[in-house]
Amino acid sequence: MGSRGRSESPIARIFGWVSVVPAPTVTLGNLFARELPEMALPWQAEEAPEPRLLALNEPLAGALGFDPAWLRSADGLRLLAGNRVPEGATPVAQAYAGHQFGGYAPRLGDGRALLLGELPDADGRLRDLHLKGSGRTPFARGGDGLAAVGPMLREYVVSEAMHALGVPTTRSLAVVATGRPVRRETLLPGALLARVASSHLRVGSFQYARATGDVELLRRLADHAISRHHPGAAEAEHPYLALFEAVVAAQASLVAQWMLVGFVHGVMNTDNMTISGETIDYGPCAFLDAYDPATVYSSIDSGGRYAYGNQPAAAEWNLARLAEALLPLLADDQEQAVEIAVAALGTFRPLYDAAWSAGMRDKLGLPAGLDEAVAAALADELLTLLQRDHVDATSFHRALGTAARGDVDPARNLFLDLAGFDGWLERWRALGPDGDAMDRVNPVYIPRNHLVEEALDAATTGDLGPLDRLLEAVAQPYDERPGLERYAAPAPQEFGAYRTFCGT
Ligand code: AMP
Ligand code: MG
Repeated sequence: MGSRGRSESPIARIFGWVSVVPAPTVTLGNLFARELPEMALPWQAEEAPEPRLLALNEPLAGALGFDPAWLRSADGLRLLAGNRVPEGATPVAQAYAGHQFGGYAPRLGDGRALLLGELPDADGRLRDLHLKGSGRTPFARGGDGLAAVGPMLREYVVSEAMHALGVPTTRSLAVVATGRPVRRETLLPGALLARVASSHLRVGSFQYARATGDVELLRRLADHAISRHHPGAAEAEHPYLALFEAVVAAQASLVAQWMLVGFVHGVMNTDNMTISGETIDYGPCAFLDAYDPATVYSSIDSGGRYAYGNQPAAAEWNLARLAEALLPLLADDQEQAVEIAVAALGTFRPLYDAAWSAGMRDKLGLPAGLDEAVAAALADELLTLLQRDHVDATSFHRALGTAARGDVDPARNLFLDLAGFDGWLERWRALGPDGDAMDRVNPVYIPRNHLVEEALDAATTGDLGPLDRLLEAVAQPYDERPGLERYAAPAPQEFGAYRTFCGT
């Protein structure tokens, strides 16, 4: 259960007093800790010396039954910082393994994070309340267990933008500055993120369970995942195969949505891929500006393993690692288990292709009955043109809606090769695209890299204004509003090539 703050007295309301916010009873479940104790290390957050709220997601807080005014109080901040453990909670560091850039690490786990516990949202669905940047745990290895203000606010902005875009994602409840400095290249102000997710089960969680050699643990983990995410699988003839198929389908759909909106995750290691199909762990992520499949933003991805255009293949590779982990549950005979897994993994490509094609058809405003081959050819040719002329993908798709309504100039002006684009435009317009429908799927506002950097730099030095304005723009990405023109524009030339940094 969430919190239930009593409302203020009538006198307090008349005089506008908000001095004392009554302490609600906050209770959190400990389902994961109870069902999977082998993967849950009870642990406590480090004391935040001077907690200060930098961002609070009031609608999300409300949906979880928290009173936002109470969360802003000293006690509320202590809860958000992990220093006030709610009733019934057993905060734990979760154990998981993972392939990082293709290399297997048998013991990763929450090095600087804690699962505080679970609580139901307004629809009765169970949600994890999790902290990132809450201090060292036994999984910290060489790390300091901390996080800086910039990266935590970055996750807040980008995850909330993704949610507003309709892409499944973990959510951000709050960012709290801890008052503790963090040493990176320089000394930076520290912060932690309170994150909400339908769970924190990862492909790496299954790799960890499998590596213990304890098949009953693996089975318990799979049962836990089925009940939390894919309850339909419990009714299937083969529940564990149905679980795997459901994860494959969820990830195929998720990555198709990333590709359609131009999102580059940047660090698609198996420990950063969920079983739920939510985007998780916003580190060196960024949105595409000029369309180019080879785009890499992360400073550590020198080989381009997680380049924009490689994301579907990276997801498929990760799902193969999940299949390997699940083999003992798929059949007693290992050869047979492999056959079953390979066949199920084979559904990833067609599911991904179907999701991407349907999404692209919507982005182009094409009629539902249009021949698939015609739509596919049109999309392919367009991508070639966009790439050749380094066209800003988000601006283009939005401008194309205007073109559908008759004004082709905003789209046309983005190209150098006008003859090439005019040919495409003519064929596309002949199909009668629906510009208004396009505006409902092609965002005006995404968290553009230069604006994210501007907002984080200002917040790090104490000015939260640019962050608030950016959040306001990206919270309603499809709704064009006067006064927000700079949030719709690509980066100025002088912003140059963008680089992002991981694990900070
Ligand atoms: P990430 O790349 O953020 O998904 O993290 C990969 C692994 O490194 C996870 O096990 C994290 O808990 C751990 N990690 C990242 N940064 C830190 C840090 N500053 N202190 C301790 N552990 C960390
Ligand atoms: Mg991670």
